[in-house]
Amino acid sequence: MPVQVYFGEALGRYGFGHGHPFGADRIHAFWQETVKQGLDRRVRVAAPALAAENAIAYFHTPDYIERVKFLSATGEGYLDYGDTPAFAGVFEAAAYVVGSTLDGLKQVMAGDCPRVFVPIAGLHHARRDAAAGFCVFNDAGVVIEALRRQFHIKRVAYVDIDAHHGDGVFYAFEDDPDLIFADIHEDGRYLYPGTGFRNETGKGAAVGTKLNIPMAPGADDEAFHKVWPELEEFVRAAKPEIILLQAGADSIAGDPITHMQFSPAAHGYAAKQLCRIADEFCQGRIIAMGGGGYNRTNLALAWNAVVKAMLD
Ligand SMILES: [Zn+2]
Repeated sequence: MPVQVYFGEALGRYGFGHGHPFGADRIHAFWQETVKQGLDRRVRVAAPALAAENAIAYFHTPDYIERVKFLSATGEGYLDYGDTPAFAGVFEAAAYVVGSTLDGLKQVMAGDCPRVFVPIAGLHHARRDAAAGFCVFNDAGVVIEALRRQFHIKRVAYVDIDAHHGDGVFYAFEDDPDLIFADIHEDGRYLYPGTGFRNETGKGAAVGTKLNIPMAPGADDEAFHKVWPELEEFVRAAKPEIILLQAGADSIAGDPITHMQFSPAAHGYAAKQLCRIADEFCQGRIIAMGGGGYNRTNLALAWNAVVKAMLD
């Protein structure tokens, strides 16, 4: 089964300087490990792609896109209330993340490469009208909208194992019954963004289409395997047409900004199991996004565990 992986300098440009945990070096930490494991010779390597502005507008409001452009030109100030600094060229850098995930979607839908991995992508905190938590444009949100508009696919499963709740995706589709949302994250009482509780199951016609599984700080692989079957059953029962996986590596022991204790094997296992479900219901279609992860060794091991699982 061919797997397409995105790598290139343009993707690495999405990163914040001055010792920010989301540094521009993350892409290289990932790729060094990919080469070390010889996976670069087993995957199809694809160059980052730039998103057209009208594609970004599938998810984001025109006012917000204009604001990002303005701050991108000045390179000063913050895009939110203090987590996400602007830098010169941030608009293009963020548009490359969206464009790469969208290009991955195009490949997947063309049918010749149903499994795709996009590091750096999975910027799940960005809202339709605002940046949040290191996330400028929500590439996952854009892809969900693109699936509906360009490919007429409604039934989408979004699975998120990043330490943080995928609030930007969750609240944007909270009342959408065809967006199946399943998220394992550190309990919002202890970690940003403070949301994603068990009773948040969707709104209106969408009640029951969202599964939030908050985990206690310090939750390890044993805790992961206790809750994973529930998530898997939930996704399988929904019979999605495509699966999106946000494989944030900040849920692994040793991350500097969270308190989770998973190992990279959890990420590999999640990817393997979701590939099976994708084969069963989705003609194999799955797009994995790197998401968070601020310990460079962890992100390198976890993301490559995902790639390896997709290859196997
Ligand atoms: Zn995170």
